[in-house]
Amino acid sequence: MTLSDAVRAAVSAVTDPELRRPIGELDMVRDVAVDGGRAQVSIALTIVGCPAAARIESDVRAAAASVPGVDEVEVQVGVMTPAERAALTERLRDGRPARQMPFGPDSLTRVILISSGKGGVGKSTVTANLAVALAGRGLAVGLVDADVHGFSIPGLLGIPAGTQPTRIDDLMLPPVAHGVKTISIGMFLRDGEAVVAWRGPMLHRTVQQFLTDVFFGDLDVLLIDMPPGTGDIAISIGQILPHAEVLVVTTPQAAASDVAIRSGLVARQTGQKVIGVVENMAAFALPDGTVVDLFGSGGGQAVADALSAGEQVPLLASIPLSPALRAGGDAGVPVVISEPTDAAAIAIDDLARTLGTRRRSLSGRPLPVRVS
Ligand code: ADP
Repeated sequence: MTLSDAVRAAVSAVTDPELRRPIGELDMVRDVAVDGGRAQVSIALTIVGCPAAARIESDVRAAAASVPGVDEVEVQVGVMTPAERAALTERLRDGRPARQMPFGPDSLTRVILISSGKGGVGKSTVTANLAVALAGRGLAVGLVDADVHGFSIPGLLGIPAGTQPTRIDDLMLPPVAHGVKTISIGMFLRDGEAVVAWRGPMLHRTVQQFLTDVFFGDLDVLLIDMPPGTGDIAISIGQILPHAEVLVVTTPQAAASDVAIRSGLVARQTGQKVIGVVENMAAFALPDGTVVDLFGSGGGQAVADALSAGEQVPLLASIPLSPALRAGGDAGVPVVISEPTDAAAIAIDDLARTLGTRRRSLSGRPLPVRVS
């Protein structure tokens, strides 16, 4: 292998942080020449001037410099031609036609909706942590924030306000946070626009569009943080993703149960399968062993029992009240990462393990849901 071959190999292995593939594979490496220890490398990116471009440039420089025999590196950064970009988006789609919703019934991706009867039960917090816990277990995880009342997912995952998906022509690449490809309807709003005021058809089109145009790549699991209750979004997603699975989040309070049961029943009416109930804000133990059940107990099991007519719906997790869980959300570092030994983090990681399954079988047939 010549020195320039070695430099090309090193540079080609650099990963594009957004596309998450080696730049060699993405045809971004152009010319490589080495002359007396001085390496000249030219690369072509989809766009220049973005943070990812700066990172790729410095990674390329470091990769070239790491090759023995190279003592000086010059990197030229150019931009792809429209034809090169078209070839790239084609490749990224893996032959999948543009404008086709990739999460249909034949998809290998498991789609799990996280619903609740009412707001404030910790649905978004649980969803963000569950996504990160699943990613930590090696699954390819996407997360859609469809909770039009709050759009709290980006904040919970530490994605800076105003972050937009990267666009390569008509392909939108979701930001990645803690290993989770994340998109929020909030990223599609113009300044000050309030999505809650949108009428049903407009919401429907928007949800359909971003499930279609956002490029998640091959996912094992797509989690969708649903708005609380049984409104337009729940109905639209029921129509667009009738094969989705549903997790219902509730608090231990009896009063919270009724609305939670209703949200599970509505999901089932659209054909979706309620795979379990998650109880959040459950009793926690003080260091001296005293158990504090601020919101009572039994609500999660009551919801699971009420939804079990016909098909058994298990209570999959009971997540205690936890200051660390709340603080992690405020700081944008989910507790499963910031304090994995916290009781809430353990309960969420157990939930991830229980749910954890790779994509469905390659035959494209839905496998029976494994809840062990
Ligand atoms: P929802 O999505 O159901 O509206 P959020 O996830 O926004 O609820 O949570 C509401 C508030 O409750 C947030 O401030 C969050 O940090 C806090 N929270 C959620 N779950 C817990 C918990 N188990 N312990 C302590 N605080 C929690």
